[in-house]
Amino acid sequence: MSDTKPQCPNCQQNVLQSLSTRCMYCGSELPKNLHPSDAQKQAILSRHEESNRAHDLAMEARANKDKKKKKQKPPIEPPFNIQ
Ligand SMILES: [Zn+2]
Repeated sequence: MSDTKPQCPNCQQNVLQSLSTRCMYCGSELPKNLHPSDAQKQAILSRHEESNRAHDLAMEARANKDKKKKKQKPPIEPPFNIQ
């Protein structure tokens, strides 16, 4: 196979793209050809930013929803059967 996934020479785990130059499984230093390039680092960083932003938006939406919920209290039914 031509497109073999990069593997850690120490533990033979598939090397995941990350900002680290170390294997995230065994912690050993990876060979230079498996280090992330600057372009890869940028891509990873921007992906992180995007997911952070999405997370923030989701949290904000939830907070707004909660606020709305608190504001719109269900009308309390007056007791009609007062004797
Ligand atoms: Zn490893």
